[in-house]
Amino acid sequence: MFCKQCGKEIPNAAVICVHCGVGTDNFRMSPRGIGGGTIFCGYLLAFIMPLFGIISGIYLLLQKCYLHGIIVILLSIVFWIAWIALFLR
Ligand SMILES: [Zn+2]
Repeated sequence: MFCKQCGKEIPNAAVICVHCGVGTDNFRMSPRGIGGGTIFCGYLLAFIMPLFGIISGIYLLLQKCYLHGIIVILLSIVFWIAWIALFLR
């Protein structure tokens, strides 16, 4: 893609322009871009459907929301084991 500020070509994954330092479209995808709703859904999925909880946890990690991402994944694994233990009892 091209920088909106200086017009020079920059990598598509770039968060800021390497030439002038202005934020790109990816900049808004940074941790602050994740709403409380997304994080809440992650926790909810971890509890109800652990498989999707892990996926949403990975999604949070990819969005650089490391703290909640790791917690959601760990919760998903714990609840997954809990659900299996409940059904196999
Ligand atoms: Zn630029």
